[in-house]
Amino acid sequence: MQQGDDFPVAIIGAGFAGIGAAIQLINAGIDSFTIFERADEIGGTWRDNTYPGCACDVPSHVYSLSFEQNPNWSRRYAPSQEIQEYLLSVVDKWKLREHMRLNTEIVEARFDEEFGTWTLTTDGGDTFTARMVISGVGGLVDPSYPDIEGMGDFEGDVMHTARWNHEVDLGGKRVAVIGTGASAVQVVPTVASMVAMLSVFQRTPAWVVPKLDRLYPRWLRRFLGRFPFFLRASRLVKYWLSELRGPIVFLDSKILANIGTRVSMWNLRQQVRDPELQKKLTPDFQFGCKRVLVSDDYWATFERENVDLVTDPIKGIERTGIRTWDGALHEADVIVLATGFKLGLATAPFPVIGLGGRTLDDAWEHGAVAYKGMTVAGFPNWFIMMGPNTGPGHTSVLVYTEAQISHALQAIKKILAEKLKYIDVRQEVQDRYNDGIQKRMKRMVWSGCKSWYLAEDGTNHSLYPGFAAEYVLRSRTLRPRDYEITRF
Ligand SMILES: Cc1cc2nc3c(=O)[nH]c(=O)nc-3n(C[C@H](O)[C@H](O)[C@H](O)COP(=O)(O)OP(=O)(O)OC[C@H]3O[C@@H](n4cnc5c(N)ncnc54)[C@H](O)[C@@H]3O)c2cc1C
Repeated sequence: MQQGDDFPVAIIGAGFAGIGAAIQLINAGIDSFTIFERADEIGGTWRDNTYPGCACDVPSHVYSLSFEQNPNWSRRYAPSQEIQEYLLSVVDKWKLREHMRLNTEIVEARFDEEFGTWTLTTDGGDTFTARMVISGVGGLVDPSYPDIEGMGDFEGDVMHTARWNHEVDLGGKRVAVIGTGASAVQVVPTVASMVAMLSVFQRTPAWVVPKLDRLYPRWLRRFLGRFPFFLRASRLVKYWLSELRGPIVFLDSKILANIGTRVSMWNLRQQVRDPELQKKLTPDFQFGCKRVLVSDDYWATFERENVDLVTDPIKGIERTGIRTWDGALHEADVIVLATGFKLGLATAPFPVIGLGGRTLDDAWEHGAVAYKGMTVAGFPNWFIMMGPNTGPGHTSVLVYTEAQISHALQAIKKILAEKLKYIDVRQEVQDRYNDGIQKRMKRMVWSGCKSWYLAEDGTNHSLYPGFAAEYVLRSRTLRPRDYEITRF
């Protein structure tokens, strides 16, 4: 067991957020920090999601760090492996491995009011103290496994898209995919041509719009590398295009929803000729209400002879396949669970114990809330990345993450420069902010249907109800008056 005032700053998680925060700490001249990562490699989402077809669904020029732009993306939407390679190269360039403790999971964080420090306990039982903590544990990290009767009886292979088993050869096999969300639209068209038979189990169809993916020719990549101005311009144009489309996916407006519906229906008709199939694939809820998916070939896959869309609900899993309520047994050699993730930002990632021994789970008893999604009253010097109400439905998460890094960094610089004990967001400031967020939610489209965006009671603590640009303007600058300041 170790003890001591080990680091001024601890970062938990080595995904985009943790890596981005580390770089900005170095840029600010703060190089005494440690990154704790529970896995054996950096990368987060892009380390874990290696299923066939996995790629980002926001153009890579936007879905990358603004302070580490990459002219070499091979295509508009880079595949997972390329994004992971980008992150690995960024880590090497900034020599972040010197700061990294891999295979180290933080299992508890406890604030010590007397010393103004957080004590972090690892899964190995070690403890470290840090004055400030950046929590970059991600929002979509732990796979969600469906509770289907008989799963244990299945004799073939079962794998979740986020834990792909590359040892399993799908060639010539009968494969069943459960789920039709963001991972399914990528994995289904990719594996369809490899397998003998593909059965896709759909509970709810999704609105799908064209992705317009394309390869970037070598001359363009060279050009962008030589003239970074154009790389920045490309990022800016793609970012604003995604922002301008935003209201179609977040505002509760029949007129805007109609535009989205028409584009999606056109996409469906282009890809599927069979009217019966079209009907099965057409959602019955307002466009934008659930996550809108992007794909150029998902729907067309169902026209293939070897692909079957199953819309009867699943009754159970048996030794040789999946039984639906109509009595049919859909035989399979492999079951792929494209069933998404436990929503990480809805609860504390591990026991986080703040002022007066109050836990973050207690503070979030009625839903996860934080000031600007980052700081929670009673949990001083604790900065959350990708926290409550900071998810976008329309553009890159990283736009939000970078604003959060900037906010946290200003707080950290202030605490260090003024030798403060801690800063703690004022409860009334946090409440006012969240009342405003929930009021605005009423004008958003998301409350109209059941989705992973919503908590059990129907409130939305995951998405930001507006433009990313607005969030950035509101959040990137620290306003000291919003915080209670405690000196030694
Ligand atoms: C398949 C997929 C595709 C996506 N595509 C897009 C996209 O196109 N555009 C977009 O904007 N967003 C996309 N996202 C969302 C994506 O999660 C974020 O964009 C981004 O990668 C999140 O980065 P992060 O660093 O915040 O979290 P993560 O990448 O999830 O990293 C969190 C890290 O924290 C570590 N960790 C967690 N708990 C602990 C602990 N207790 N102790 C130590 N370490 C811990 C994890 O192991 C992980 O490495 C996608 C998500 C998925 C799953």
